Formats: sequence, C-alpha cells, structure tokens
Amino acid sequence: MIPTFGSYHLANVRLHRSLTPGLSAPFDADGFALADIAVADGKISSITAHGRSADAIDLGGRIVLPCFVDCHTHIDKGHIWPRKPNPDGTFMGALNATGADRTARWSAEDVARRMDFSLRSAYAHGTRALRTHIDSVAPQEEISWPVFETMREAWRGRIELQGACLLGIEGVRDRKWFDRLAKRVAAAKGVLGVVTYMVPDLEELLDQVFAQAIKHGLDLDFHADETDDAAAISLKKIAEAALWNGFEGNILVGHCCSLARQPDLEVLDTLDKVAKAGLAVVSLPMCNLYLQDRRPDQTTPRWRGVTLLHEMKARGIPVAVASDNTRDPFYAYGDLDMLEVYRMATRILHFDHPVADWPQTVSATPASVMRLDGFGTLAAGGDADFILFKGRSWTELLSRPESDRIVVRGGRAIDRQLPDYAELDGLMVE
Ligand SMILES: [Zn+2]
Repeated sequence: MIPTFGSYHLANVRLHRSLTPGLSAPFDADGFALADIAVADGKISSITAHGRSADAIDLGGRIVLPCFVDCHTHIDKGHIWPRKPNPDGTFMGALNATGADRTARWSAEDVARRMDFSLRSAYAHGTRALRTHIDSVAPQEEISWPVFETMREAWRGRIELQGACLLGIEGVRDRKWFDRLAKRVAAAKGVLGVVTYMVPDLEELLDQVFAQAIKHGLDLDFHADETDDAAAISLKKIAEAALWNGFEGNILVGHCCSLARQPDLEVLDTLDKVAKAGLAVVSLPMCNLYLQDRRPDQTTPRWRGVTLLHEMKARGIPVAVASDNTRDPFYAYGDLDMLEVYRMATRILHFDHPVADWPQTVSATPASVMRLDGFGTLAAGGDADFILFKGRSWTELLSRPESDRIVVRGGRAIDRQLPDYAELDGLMVE
C-alpha cells in the first residue's frame, strides 16, 4: 500500500489535534480531523485538510500517529524471566531476583543479545526513540555501558537510544565511586539516574546527585516512591532539591505511586513544588498494576498503583507513560509496544472522556523531556516517520492489538517481523 520509494500522497487519514500542531482543519469531538499527507524524499512535504487529489492513496479515514517515544524502559533487564522469574510477584521479589541474575549472568554478550532483541521489538511496533535505565551497581557499569554505546551506534537512524544509570541512592554515599560513575555517564552522553528511598540522609545524597549533574551538564532521571507506603515522599524531596540547587536541566521522575495514597494537603504541597521545579513525571501503568498492591495469600488487589497524572497535567506538569520492564522479575509481560501501553493507560488511568491531549503522553511530551526535536509530532518538513493503523476512531484503535499496523520510517514501510523468542533460548539455560 505504501510505495517503497519516491513521492506519494496519502489522502483521507485521521490526524489528532494534539500531535499535528500545524494542521488547520475541522477537528471533531475526539480531536481528529481528516487530512492528506504528502511525502517526498523521506520527509513530510505537506499536511493539509482532506481535499481531492487525483493520484492520492485513499486511506478511508484510518488513524495516523507519529512514531512513539518510550522514555522509561529497562532493556538491560528485559527477557530474563524464563531463567529468573519473580517468585511471588512483589517488588522485593523482583529486586532480589534481578540482583541475583545480574551478578550471575549479565556478561556483555548476554546484555547485548537481550538489548538487541528488545530494540527489534520496539522498532517493529513503531517506536522511534527509547530511553533505557542501565543497572550500574559495581561492577555492572563497566560491562553494560560499553554495550549500550555499541548498541546506540548500531541502532542510530532506526531508534534514537538514550541511557540513564540506575542504582539505589545509598550507592551515592561512596562519593569517589559515584564521581567516577557520573564521569562515565557523561562520557557516554547519558543521563544521571538513581532510585530514591526514604533513607535518613536522603537530602544530602540528593544534593550529591544534583552537584554531579550540574558539574557534568547532565539531565536527571529518578525512580521515586514505587510503593504504597504513604510515608514515601521522595518526589517532594527531589522537587525541593531541584529548587534549592537551582538546577536548569531536564528532570524526569518515574512511578510516584505513593502520591496516590497520601492525604490531599500533602499531595497539593508536593504538586506545587513539582510544578515550580519544572519536573516531568512518567507513569508506568502496566508495571505498577503488576507490582503494586500485590497481596499475600492470593487476595485481590484494591488499587491500581498509578500516580496522579490528571492532577499533575491540570497544573501544567509534563506527564508521560512508558513501557518500563518487559519479561523480567519486575513485570512478567510486555513487548515494548507503546500502543499497548497507551491502550492500558487509557483503561487504568482514564485517558478518555475526553481524550483531550493524552496522546501526547507517548509521543510529544516524552520527546520534549528527552530533548528530541521533531519527534512525537507530525509536521511539514519533518521526517516521514509515522504509524498507519486500521482503526478510524479511539474505540476501534484501542480495542484490537493492531498487529497489522504499518510503520513508515523515512517514507517507507518497514519490515515489522518480530524477533522469535526461541532466539533467546541459548541464554536461558542454567
Ligand atoms: Zn523503571
């Protein structure tokens, strides 16, 4: 259906208002307008309201979205499930199982093969940019960062890959080692990341993290408050630290689950500070649904685990959703399919009635947090990187997996073959 070269016109496609800033056309209540897209030499040469064009390919009102941006993943952990499942589905179960697997199995080859498998899946589903956290507890940082750098080069032009180091914030107490890690991350043009816990010296340790980020000009990426414990307020502590350190880089904070368990006054105070400090927040709805409110004795979970994205967005805080873990002890499922993430987010987080600009959570907003100009929106002059779905409305789009979607990169439909799980069998034996 999509020509493999040259120039062509796609007519009668549905584009969303929140992802097509330059389009002037009548938008319906769901935010869609019928439009025509002209493609030439791998670029979008124009996007106009749907009219009539003699040699256009009529797509019958099918939805076209920009390629996805997945701003929070762990492709260094991905796909270890068959050899290291989570014994009980809890957060501690995940942490311990992953730690044991990392120590025993994460050679450069093991990490590289699983990363490549993940990237091929993400690419086939229509992802154009992806940030992965990289477990950086010694000595893993010396193994995984070179693999990441090689992978980023190999994938350049297909997936724009970013890396953020990952370690518990108590690791920052070893100042010399953390100083070396920050230098390593800076050399790889990465992002500085830690997992915050309510340790007694949290404020002091956060100051160390901000100091290193300022020294090396790095953006920051935190895992915060991935717990139902209402006493976990590290999101607020991060915002306060950003303000008193006068930090000017981008800060992305993931999870923030406990915020949904706190009293309103506490929530309001935190959101004020998060907005003032310019933090962006990413919710990981599938992973949070899996790990949070996991109860003993097979009793039923009673909350969804996600943070307060509606309240954040209402205050102008940039919000995103992302894949997080895939087939590892933190989440038994997942395939880096951002349409699945958006579908699940719509259901878990109520991204509907109205849909409004929620589609930006998987495209334009994470692109901005990741400083990727031209990603996550469709505009004349931009790369012809988009996904053509069967669905013509939100209910059609989000009711089926859309496994037959067409992913167009640089104007051409790509081969969407997913890697076979059997490829990883050799890594799964004891
Ligand atoms: Zn994560």
